[in-house]
Amino acid sequence: MNILVTGGCGFIGSHTVVELENAGHEVIVLDNLSNSSKKSLDRVAQITGKTCKFYEADILDRDALNKIFDTEKIDAVIHFAGLKAVGESVRKPWEYYNNNITGTLTLVDVMRQHGVKSIIFSSSATVYGEPAFIPITEECPKAPCTNPYGWTKSMLEQILMDIQKADPEWNVVILRYFNPIGAHKSGLIGENPNGIPNNLMPYITQVAVGKLKELGIFGNDYDTPDGTGVRDYIHVVDLADGHVKALKMIEQNAGLKVYNLGTGKGYSVLDIVKNFEEANGIKIPYVIKERRAGDIAENYSDATKAKEELGWVAQYDIKDMCADSWNWQKNNPNGYDE
Ligand code: NAD
Ligand code: UDP
Repeated sequence: MNILVTGGCGFIGSHTVVELENAGHEVIVLDNLSNSSKKSLDRVAQITGKTCKFYEADILDRDALNKIFDTEKIDAVIHFAGLKAVGESVRKPWEYYNNNITGTLTLVDVMRQHGVKSIIFSSSATVYGEPAFIPITEECPKAPCTNPYGWTKSMLEQILMDIQKADPEWNVVILRYFNPIGAHKSGLIGENPNGIPNNLMPYITQVAVGKLKELGIFGNDYDTPDGTGVRDYIHVVDLADGHVKALKMIEQNAGLKVYNLGTGKGYSVLDIVKNFEEANGIKIPYVIKERRAGDIAENYSDATKAKEELGWVAQYDIKDMCADSWNWQKNNPNGYDE
């Protein structure tokens, strides 16, 4: 298929471009480079031996989108483009709602005007809020989010569902990601956060590479086996493969589909530190800090539905995730910057 990947220069997008190309799809990337580097696509080309088309464009720019859809034959869109920093979204709610929601509304409008009515949307386990039950199945009710970023995901899910309901020609596949970490085995592409990382794994790898002194663990008094927060970490290459598998639902005109993409296993912050140390032979100094506002104790997925319907099962384990995250960071201490 010919796939437009919005946000294709980013962390998950670049890994998905690799898996799409490996599966024989033609890829066109659109990205405004607000949180990424075009160099990621040069690295993708090194891995796959193929070059994809690239448009530096913003999903808010209707004229630019029209030109792309006028020029390219597009069968489906995989939509990663969006702002994703939780804390920043609290400080800049307008920017987050505008970029993520107005941007997606513009994209979807241009798509339908060009007769392209298939989209895979990057959602998040954050839509379950404080989950009603664990492991979390797709039937778990959505709950209030604790920040504007989360609300953009929750609201966009609803918007896309309503659009599909009103016009059943649409295929909408909503993928709720758990915690993506790791990097491509080659160490050529990976996560490249701006400034001090908010997320656990990039923070750990920056401690390991000597850019940060020690990890702060946000709370050790949660109701979990060791008191630290439990999450379902998933290797980004597995996540990318989930998108390739989800295209099957689009080929089958499946209408609306919602899947969790997680491994179904929960690891605590201390488990991650221990596995990172064992996988890489590096000590990670840490201190226990206050709980972080908005964090929940525990969340992990029930991954049965994606297995049964998409034939998708995560292949990589926690040691692979820790080793591959480190391989990327140590080879690229400054990300894509020289
Ligand atoms: P990322 O920031 O690395 O990638 C997002 C890409 O979108 C970037 O390359 C950025 O430049 C681009 N972009 C942002 N706004 C744009 C706009 N208006 N027009 C064009 N391009 C724009 O983030 P990621 O981790 O790869 O996440 C990809 C998607 O998955 C996002 O929608 C994110 O919210 C979602 N998601 C991520 C996680 C995670 O932990 N990484 C978890 C759940 C969901
Ligand atoms: N965490 C931590 N220190 C950090 C970053 C994260 O202890 O510097 C914890 C956080 O409290 C949560 C887990 O690690 O329990 C995963 O956090 P992350 O921000 O990576 O993902 P989230 O699940 O919050 O989206």
